[in-house]
Amino acid sequence: MGADILLKAGTWIWQQRNVLAFWLKNREKEKVLNRSESHPRVWVYAEAHLPTRFGQFRVLVFRNDQDDREHLAVVQGRPEVHSVVPVRVHSECLTSEVLGSLKCDCREQLHAALEYIDRQGYGIVLYLRQEGRGIGLGNKIRAYALQESGLDTVEANHALGFDDDLRRYDIAAAMLHHLHVNRVALLTNNPRKISGLEAFGIEVVHRLPLEIQPHPVNQFYLATKARKSGHLLESFLEEDALTNNS
Ligand SMILES: [Zn+2]
Repeated sequence: MGADILLKAGTWIWQQRNVLAFWLKNREKEKVLNRSESHPRVWVYAEAHLPTRFGQFRVLVFRNDQDDREHLAVVQGRPEVHSVVPVRVHSECLTSEVLGSLKCDCREQLHAALEYIDRQGYGIVLYLRQEGRGIGLGNKIRAYALQESGLDTVEANHALGFDDDLRRYDIAAAMLHHLHVNRVALLTNNPRKISGLEAFGIEVVHRLPLEIQPHPVNQFYLATKARKSGHLLESFLEEDALTNNS
């Protein structure tokens, strides 16, 4: 008797397999659609005071429903009571920030931003875990290997099959909204960051340039950022203007 019921149930499930497959496939599609159409949901997982060499900050660890990474907000003062808040949206760079790599200026930019915001008495550094402009640590090192054979940073990313910048700013915008900050003075040289945040409802009232003095190792990298990725680096743009005029 029991075996008969099991057999019937099994037969029914087998007969409905196409319907089930169709339903599952559409459910997945719907999930993807909802993800791209809706704003990310973020929440604070942990929060504590953090004394640093740059000043006393509050560090908030955010989690979200888009990726399984923990992104940080390093907060000075009470940004939410100010109409325009100085903000740096910074993407993780292990090679520069931990190992002291000279190939880029990420560590110097992060430190300059923390110093600046501490001096202001209020503001936020968002620290996003999107290494290597979003391609991840392993691929960034593979791109470095390609650069050893003469490619620049943009060409190396293309050779690996990536766009030159895969960073996203929807989670950053959601973190700012969560902190009740909607109008910012953005510390950046990168116009893509401005449009990336504005697309998700953050008004960038003005841009604060964050120029780091180039040195021989990162000069080529910074020049590529200025010439190919649209970064607003005065020293390189001026140099270009002079070269073009002469
Ligand atoms: Zn870097």
